[in-house]
Amino acid sequence: MLCYRDEMSEPFVTPGWDFEGVEHGFAPQETAVAEHLRLVRVTQVHGRELVVARADTASPAGEADGLLTAAPGLAVAVATADCVPVLLVAPDARAVAAVHAGWRGSLAGIVARAVVGFSEHFGAPATAIRAALGPSIDGCCYEIEREIAQRFVDQHGLEMWSAWKDGTPGKGTLDLRSVNELLLERAGVPEESIQRVGPCTACGDADLASYRVDGPGGGRQLSWIGISA
Ligand SMILES: [Zn+2]
Repeated sequence: MLCYRDEMSEPFVTPGWDFEGVEHGFAPQETAVAEHLRLVRVTQVHGRELVVARADTASPAGEADGLLTAAPGLAVAVATADCVPVLLVAPDARAVAAVHAGWRGSLAGIVARAVVGFSEHFGAPATAIRAALGPSIDGCCYEIEREIAQRFVDQHGLEMWSAWKDGTPGKGTLDLRSVNELLLERAGVPEESIQRVGPCTACGDADLASYRVDGPGGGRQLSWIGISA
């Protein structure tokens, strides 16, 4: 298979996100990050915990699935391959977050917890937050047990069925980005402040890491957002 390295290493960016002092990217590889920012990551465990990264926070900053920061010179990042990488920014507060939302984290409402974190730590209300959901496996390809979709409905209400399509008996497809968009809206983020960036990791034509397609050795994307020093 031909690999077009230069094209591959171009990160996806969110249209309209030209906030002063804030940089971000959904990089197809784990290495492509702005060199002038110190990167802080976490040991991801498919949970719902988030950490606040300060200027002196070491990386990895413990076991968690998301980070928030308002520290200049720092970038926070999550690695994914099919799970949803969610980047959040409150431009006026100059606060940012990176969240790893697989089905377990999505079910546990990790994006809503990040929204609360902006208010708790930086005084930024949900209405001031912009959210970008990066390349992940979408409803076209993410086949799972219906029982898992039922758990989303039990946890978050009937609206969750809108992200589900029935398939073969007992199975169907779930669109995890739709799930997280609904959860962000419910947490108070305006619908017009939520964007989808990049294609499905499994069937999109970009050369993105997909656990379902490539298996465990297939690499990961790195989605990062930081604050210029
Ligand atoms: Zn797909």
